[in-house]
Amino acid sequence: MKVAFVASEAFPFAKVGGLADVIGSLPQALKKQGLEPTIFIPWYWGIQGYYVGEAWFSFEGQREKIGIGHAEHGGVRYVLVGLGDFARDKPYGYPDDFRRFVRFALAAAELLGDFDIVHAHDWQAALLPLLRNLGWFRARTVYTIHNLAYQGVWNPEDFYAWTRLPGETYYGAGLEHHGSVNLMKAGIVNADAVTTVSPRYAWEITTPEGGEGLDGVLRAQQWKLRGILNGLDTEYWNPATDPYLAHPYDASDLSGKARNRALLLSELGLEDRPTLGVVSRFAHQKGMDLIADAVDGLMGLGVNLVVLGSGDPNLERTFAWMAAHLKGRLAYTQGYNEPLAHRIYAGSDGFLMPSRFEPCGLAQLIAMRYGTPPIVRAVGGLLDTVKHGETGFIFETADVGGILWGVQAFLHHPDRKAVARRAMQQDFSWEKPAQEYLALYRQLLGI
Ligand code: ADP
Repeated sequence: MKVAFVASEAFPFAKVGGLADVIGSLPQALKKQGLEPTIFIPWYWGIQGYYVGEAWFSFEGQREKIGIGHAEHGGVRYVLVGLGDFARDKPYGYPDDFRRFVRFALAAAELLGDFDIVHAHDWQAALLPLLRNLGWFRARTVYTIHNLAYQGVWNPEDFYAWTRLPGETYYGAGLEHHGSVNLMKAGIVNADAVTTVSPRYAWEITTPEGGEGLDGVLRAQQWKLRGILNGLDTEYWNPATDPYLAHPYDASDLSGKARNRALLLSELGLEDRPTLGVVSRFAHQKGMDLIADAVDGLMGLGVNLVVLGSGDPNLERTFAWMAAHLKGRLAYTQGYNEPLAHRIYAGSDGFLMPSRFEPCGLAQLIAMRYGTPPIVRAVGGLLDTVKHGETGFIFETADVGGILWGVQAFLHHPDRKAVARRAMQQDFSWEKPAQEYLALYRQLLGI
């Protein structure tokens, strides 16, 4: 069985969020199940790969060259799809993102002739199941929704000028949604199977509250939709061997955690109080604005806040301002910072995640693995992975009251060390999810 993944991020080559962690680790777990998946990602500027050849595809009616590279990570082969407009310093955030990823999907489709399963991820690869249905390649297709909020929406004039696909696909193949091209919808409609990254989210997205406008489409396709919980790369995220930590530790001896905590507090100039960590993109989804609103109340509860992240510039400024005014109690580091993220997961007492919605969430899994009980909102994968009072704390409402309730439950728990230890002992490995994906591929191939 030859399996190809097509995605826009893969750790360690390019990472914006959890998608990269999944694409960087699920293939290794599939390998342990006897598969040899090949991962197709754009050849972003700065990715070290070796050039192996070229292929051609058509865009805007012109023949265009694909420079093909190879790279390896964890024994898995990555194919780097080299296209001019990907040689930039970050994966997205450009006005032409839609055009770039349509180009990527068309180019990738040229390279998939050999495969039995094409597993496409998120809107950036969502065109592939439709291209398969047009006969561009023969594989069975799986489409995974990592985040329904980003759908790949654009006007049909540009889309058809770029792709030169038959116009009847607009209505006939599920591309049209409210008068625009919607790649996410096309992925859902055309794939042989649709998965998302937790069972709870698989249900939530079929409701008007969680459906981001696509709940009707998802209800109609519910027969082929299922949730498979994400795993974690438990070798990479391992407090006993983590090279970014000064003091390794495990569930049998948390004294190393206490030393990492002391280092973190002194590094950030914080006083010795219960310390809550936050590592997050600053997007509406993540509820960083709710944390900002809750800061006054949190300070009243006597906790420190350690925040790492970037995104919404207004919120970045808010947190920078608060850090300047709450020295010793609130620390904010802007940007993406892998080593500091590890030190926060290890050195915090609790981990705050007030998401408005959360497809799966990896940050809370990492926090649990590092013995840092997550305090999370009752939504999506957070609800599937955290047990209230046992491995973390769950609050109901996405507002200041909810956050403060959750933090109080954390502060008043009679034995936080026991919660930390139980959290560390949960199995978040990829083994079981990888078996579920393998079973799905087999089912699609009838083997
Ligand atoms: P999402 O994919 O929606 O951003 P997840 O919780 O699934 O959220 O995954 C987030 C991943 O990105 C985690 O591995 C987290 O540690 C990492 N991350 C987020 N922001 C930062 C940052 N500023 N610096 C380092 N790592 C970050």
